[in-house]
Amino acid sequence: MTQTEQAPEVQDTPLVPIDKIVALSKRRGFVYPNSEIYGGVAGIYDFGPLGVEFRNNIRRYWWWSMVQNHDNVVGIEGATITHPRVWEASGHVENFVDRLVDCKKCKRRFRIDHLAPENVAQNKCPNCGGELTEPRTFNLLMETYLGVVEGDRMKTYLRGEACQNIYLDYDNVLKSSRMQIPFGICQIGKAYRNEVTPGNFLFRQREFEQWDLQFFVHPSEMQKWFDYWKEYRFEWYKSIINHKDRLHFREHGPDELAHYAKQAYDIEYRTVLGWQEWEGIHWRQDWDLSRHSQYSGQDLSYTDPETKERYIPWIVETSGGVDRTFLNLLLDAYEEEPDPNGKEPRTVLRLHPMLAPVKVAVFPLQKNKEELTSTAKGIHKRLQRLMVSQYDEIGAIGRRYRRQDEIGTPYCITVDFQTLEDQTVTVRERDKMTQERIAIDALPAYLLERVGWQ
Ligand code: ATP
Repeated sequence: MTQTEQAPEVQDTPLVPIDKIVALSKRRGFVYPNSEIYGGVAGIYDFGPLGVEFRNNIRRYWWWSMVQNHDNVVGIEGATITHPRVWEASGHVENFVDRLVDCKKCKRRFRIDHLAPENVAQNKCPNCGGELTEPRTFNLLMETYLGVVEGDRMKTYLRGEACQNIYLDYDNVLKSSRMQIPFGICQIGKAYRNEVTPGNFLFRQREFEQWDLQFFVHPSEMQKWFDYWKEYRFEWYKSIINHKDRLHFREHGPDELAHYAKQAYDIEYRTVLGWQEWEGIHWRQDWDLSRHSQYSGQDLSYTDPETKERYIPWIVETSGGVDRTFLNLLLDAYEEEPDPNGKEPRTVLRLHPMLAPVKVAVFPLQKNKEELTSTAKGIHKRLQRLMVSQYDEIGAIGRRYRRQDEIGTPYCITVDFQTLEDQTVTVRERDKMTQERIAIDALPAYLLERVGWQ
């Protein structure tokens, strides 16, 4: 498997500037800045009509691969507010901090752990060379209050990471779902962090979504399952990107590892931001369940039904971001393809067909011919029962193709005069722009085979 620092620098298509994705997202309804009419809020975004379809597809594919596809994995959906003691037990109240410095000259702000060692050693701003302030420490947990009566209000936190619910529900899942170790619990859900340097669009937000697996094992099987999930997650990401060489593992060095962790890896993806974490694969040992046993006073140990051995299960964690997946996939898929005839370049999102927000678009060749429009609308209605389909009769066919290419629609269907004679249509494929004639009745099977799970 590829190793961190030695990963090859591959120069294929140029890396896409984030600004292009921000502009496309706004223009076509993937992502909008939150509260924009009030000037917006840094690090918080809303998802538009296409964004929500795309996001649902990404989530569904993760859930299908992780839960539906594994007999020994089940899912939960926990609340985003918990008892405040959870965050004491987890260590977040004490340790979930970022250390910040400001440049006295250009006033820019940096996280110390994001600065190059020479800048830290020389106390020098990487932007303008100015002097940096003394570091200040900030806790990232977002506080909130439960209750309305002053004095009876309880301070708690919006969850700083989604996975804590899994430890809290572990015992309930064990008792209610007839699972036995080894088994896993998955969850997709929102997390909140008062990030001190939110930015780079969806990459670092204050409200974002995580997907987690916590896999509970006997200590003697920890390495086996760690290796299994590390490989499985890597292959999963690889299966949904075009630029496979922009994905690698970064192994954590000894100074980065938590005291209980034998090893840890980040799956990283390379964009204009450089190599950045997409998902972490963590060796959590018995840390989480031991801490929650200790803080709650509840015994969270497990008794093997056959050997009667009693122990606190060890945990393999895989923890990634839905929003980073959203952003990385757009960066991976976006291309401005030069036109061979010297016209405007074709903007195309080469998204995996099963993740594309719209699967098919149906066009009548002309909008003023009733036989063509009614046939096209009929096909659209039929396909709509199976997948997201759009009907479009506005403008020249070429422009309609372009509109769909830009949002990643893998197939466009055109109803023309031949359709009225032999009940066939042309199906045009997004990437190669090839066209095939297909019978109307064969369309559902033809498309489902190409846009469904692989
Ligand atoms: P980073 O080092 O980038 O701050 P982290 O190590 O704190 O990330 P984890 O706590 O391990 O991240 O969270 C798991 C995943 O959640 C990350 O791999 C990332 O995909 C996602 N994630 C974390 N913080 C954010 C954020 N502020 N905005 C969007 N996604 C995030």
